[in-house]
Order: sequence, then C-alpha cells, then structure tokens
Amino acid sequence: MVSLTHIALMVAVTAAGLALGSFLNVVIYRLPREGLAIDRPRRSFCPICAAQISWRDNIPVISWLLLRGRCRSCQSPISFRYPLVELLAALLAALAFQTEGVSIRFFITLYFLLCLVAIFFIDLEHLIIADVLVIPTILLGVILAVVDPVPYLMGHGLWAYLVESGLSPRLVGLIGSVAGFVLGFGILWLISALYKAWRGRAGLGDGDPPLLGLIGIYLGWLAIFPVLFLSTAMGLLTVGFLVVTGRMSREKIANQPIPFGPFLSLAAIIWYFFGQSILTWYLNLFT
Ligand SMILES: [Zn+2]
Repeated sequence: MVSLTHIALMVAVTAAGLALGSFLNVVIYRLPREGLAIDRPRRSFCPICAAQISWRDNIPVISWLLLRGRCRSCQSPISFRYPLVELLAALLAALAFQTEGVSIRFFITLYFLLCLVAIFFIDLEHLIIADVLVIPTILLGVILAVVDPVPYLMGHGLWAYLVESGLSPRLVGLIGSVAGFVLGFGILWLISALYKAWRGRAGLGDGDPPLLGLIGIYLGWLAIFPVLFLSTAMGLLTVGFLVVTGRMSREKIANQPIPFGPFLSLAAIIWYFFGQSILTWYLNLFT
C-alpha cells in the first residue's frame, strides 16, 4: 500500500532532483573552465553571447523545451545535455529515495550518484576527473560506513563474520569501506603501471584509480570486479561503434587517450541500482 505521504515525499524529492540537476549543469560547465567559479558570476549566462539568463529561462527542462533548445537573445543552440542532466538528477533522486527511504544514507548516496554524473560529463568533454568531486566524496563515504554500517552486516560475508567474532559494527564499517577503496584504487593503479611499463606511455588517466577506489567505498569491494568488467565492456563497445560508423579512425584510437571515467561512473550507477538483480540473473544461468 503506497501512502499519500510517500507520494508527496516522492514528488518533493523529484522536484528537488530537478533543481539539483540545474546546479549540476553549472558544476559541469564551470568546474573545468579557467576563470569561472561555481558562485561567480552569480547568474547563469549564455556561453555564446554571454547574455544573462533570466529565471524564467532557467526552469529545469521546461525552459529548454519552451525555447526549443535555443538561446533567447542569440538563437544559438543550447546543448541537449542541460535538460538531460536535469532529468537524470531527478530520476536518480527518485530511485535513490525509493531504495534508501528517509535516511542519512539517502542524502549521502544521492551526493555520490550526482558526483558520478558530473564526473561522467566532465571527463567525457575535458579528459579530467576533478579532485574536488572525488576527495570529499571519499571522506563522506567512509563517514557513512562508520555512522551507518548496516549494509556491511547483511548476508554471510566476511564483514558479518568479523562482527560475529566480536568487532564493533562501526569498526567493521570502517574496515569494509577502506578495503573497498584499497582494492578499487589498487587494481587500476596496477593495470595503469603495467600498461606504462609495456607501452611506455600512460593508458589510463591519473584520476581513474581514485575514482574506482571511491566506487569501492560506496558499493563494497565485491562490486569492484563487476564494475570494472561492465565499464570495460561498455568502453570497448563504444569505441567499436565509433570505429565501425567512421566517427573515429584506428590511428586515433592508438594515439589518443580515451576517457575511462565516464564508463566507470555509468557502470557504478548501474551496479548501485541493478547489481543485485544482475548477479541473481547471472547465477541463475548456471543452475
Ligand atoms: Zn546566447
């Protein structure tokens, strides 16, 4: 039975998600650009003609539709990324609320998911993963694991065993989150070092190992290999698609760095929501 309160909360969370998506667009545009701060200039502006954008042209999704994706003053096209990010943020907020309910875990998990969205778009365009998106999220994840260690205590894994043998749940939460970070960071760092020794140049960005470490904190160490597999598969499929459709040449692939952060971020979001279902489906193939 779905209560009226739940529906009202869901509507509020989705609306807040749209507003957060609007802010996320500011982060995605300004963070990687020199001379722009998140709060300076105060008002949003058109990147082509620099005209300030009034509040009525800044309503998530709706304004973009009403303006038919064009700037009011110069008619330059406004990227589809803007309404897309707003819709994504609203969807993630609603899904995370459905999964976590009213809890501190909901707020911190939503922060984690929105950071992944920002990393996705910034790395895709600029080939950088900003520390300011990764480091505070790592710290928040470790704090969450200590404050609310419940996910570590479910099932019959190593962490539940440690609690049964007398360690405090909070300590086990701390150990579990650090283990997730070390495994995620370590495995990509190792792959990166081996590739460098073999080919004499970097194959992965500096930001990729900490990003997988961050994912390990939130999704647990058991998610590291599935996320790595999923992101590699999506990356190869994307590159294959770009080559087959002639959007990217073979030489370019051999010499040009390909951002891995977007695929890691997308795989982590998929695994957060559907990991359990995918795992069950996969194991059922063998029984
Ligand atoms: Zn304009």
